[in-house]
Amino acid sequence: MRRLSGLYPVVVLVVLMALLPLVSVTPEFWITLLNYIGLSSLVVLGLMLLTGIAGLTSFGQAAFVGVGAYVTGYLCLNYAASPWLTVFIGFAVTGVIAFCLGAITLRLSGHYLPLGTIAWGISLFYLFGNMDWLGRYDGLNGLPPIHFFGVALEAGRQIYFLIWTLVFLSMLALNQLLDSRPGRAIRALRGGPLLAESFGINTARYKIIVFVIAALLASLSGWLYAHLQRSINPTPFGINAGIEYLFMAVAGGAASVWGALLGAALVTVAKDQLQDILPRLLGSNGNFEVIVFGILFVLLLQRAPEGLFPYLQRAAALLRNEKTRGRTIAIDEKAAPLSNRALPSPGTLLLDVKKLTKRFGGLVAVNAIDFSVRAGEIVGLIGPNGAGKSTTFNLITGVLKATSGDVIFAGQALNALRSRDIVRLGVARTFQHVKLLPQMSALENVALGAHLRVDVGILRAALRLDRALEARLLAEAMQQLRRVGLEHLAFEEAGNLALGQQRILEIARALAADPVLLLLDEPAAGLRYKEKQALAQVLRALRAAGMTILLVEHDMDFVMDLTDNLVVMDFGVKLAEGVPAKIRDDPVVLEAYLGGFDDEGGLT
Ligand code: ADP
Ligand code: MG
Repeated sequence: MRRLSGLYPVVVLVVLMALLPLVSVTPEFWITLLNYIGLSSLVVLGLMLLTGIAGLTSFGQAAFVGVGAYVTGYLCLNYAASPWLTVFIGFAVTGVIAFCLGAITLRLSGHYLPLGTIAWGISLFYLFGNMDWLGRYDGLNGLPPIHFFGVALEAGRQIYFLIWTLVFLSMLALNQLLDSRPGRAIRALRGGPLLAESFGINTARYKIIVFVIAALLASLSGWLYAHLQRSINPTPFGINAGIEYLFMAVAGGAASVWGALLGAALVTVAKDQLQDILPRLLGSNGNFEVIVFGILFVLLLQRAPEGLFPYLQRAAALLRNEKTRGRTIAIDEKAAPLSNRALPSPGTLLLDVKKLTKRFGGLVAVNAIDFSVRAGEIVGLIGPNGAGKSTTFNLITGVLKATSGDVIFAGQALNALRSRDIVRLGVARTFQHVKLLPQMSALENVALGAHLRVDVGILRAALRLDRALEARLLAEAMQQLRRVGLEHLAFEEAGNLALGQQRILEIARALAADPVLLLLDEPAAGLRYKEKQALAQVLRALRAAGMTILLVEHDMDFVMDLTDNLVVMDFGVKLAEGVPAKIRDDPVVLEAYLGGFDDEGGLT
């Protein structure tokens, strides 16, 4: 029902927009404005994906609009090519340029990335302006209109339909993409590489993909622009335009397709109005709108940092007296289960850590640690804060490279592997400092864990051809939530969960990867007594089902009852190893604990 009621305003909007140019009383000026809003929307939709979702800021999108426009302009004028062909050639050229630029700039982090995009944005602008064959700063003139089944789309009212059909199709495709396996991977880029890579997501690849998609949308906009204007010059493809597109994305709300549309509409209309009003107020034409825009931008970032669309959404929900919450979706419990890895027979050597060492400068965080884990065991890695437990986890999972020593998992050396390859082998983990995507539902966070278990690409997702696999994947995620007792919170945003629940949610996500070995870094931290009991129950059930677990824990009582074996670390070295009862009475361990064990209820 929620989906239906959500669809209603969309249908009204589309019908209204379709009727508008057909009614002759609609002023020509409106049509022109709407056409420009549509063109900007395409670019801003790309930015929505790139900046709003993936967190990669680009000031250079206008340059890609230029590439699309110049490719079609050049080919139509010099080779009398059909625009229906040149649009695809434009995609190819833009795709190649974006791929190359992306491969270079996306490696930059922090502020260097936006700066990099400014650099190539300016370069492409000057390239357009200095090429003889592109008409230098005069550009290209006399472009043909696009023909559609013999009809020349010359008038604004005619090309309007093409523009807006493409806008709505792009919105649909992007929405479908975001709500899918690759879409979740793209959304996970925000959470940083550590999280995404540990579930098998190739973050560098997804960044490039997002970058190219955004560039293609800009190129499409450029193609339309060239045939709407019928002439092009470098000015609208410069860095000013690039900044304006980014402003539209931020103003509307950079994380949703509707925000993109709203931002494009607001800024286009506002600019038009300001260009009209300001000279009248101030008596001369001095591009004052740039200043006013600057002020508005700052105000907006202060008042509605997420943009206007989420702001309006919240206001509307308040009016309707609704609680804003995650969308509930139907889970097909009968979907065929995803295939599972074969578990090793209990007692076989699964993980063998040999002389593992990690130095951070002068500090030896892990010093020649040896221990092993057999299939079907729960092994506890304990020791005071700073003992090197999390570092050991990071070495096993490929987050850190060992200075020396070996990690052998099921007979295979893990040392040279990246974390996304290690999870592929069946080693999944949780993090001591919870790493979830707070704005994604608990269910989607868990689904992220199953990233490697289905293979759905971008195109398939955008065209909605992935639904059977998606249903299986979501059923699996639900199943894992049920396993850890969080089923009732499946549609809650992960960020709204209590810290203890977030830790358990991470366990469900790790389980969704179908691991053979589960590494849990302080899973019981922040849990109350009853919750700890429940967690211990879950872990026992997992062991009974054949799972092997290595866990870091502070609470001695918790590990005493639960584990088959304990490894005690202090200052990076192994103090002792053995069954819990033996460790409990070991004088060396007692000494280390009494002499330094900290906060959360050690041995006392
Ligand atoms: P534990 O998980 O047992 O509390 P850690 O493995 O997190 O301990 O840390 C072990 C030691 O290594 C600590 O002294 C910590 O400050 C240091 N350390 C951990 N990660 C890094 C890093 N990336 N760079 C430098 N020092 C680090
Ligand atoms: Mg730690």
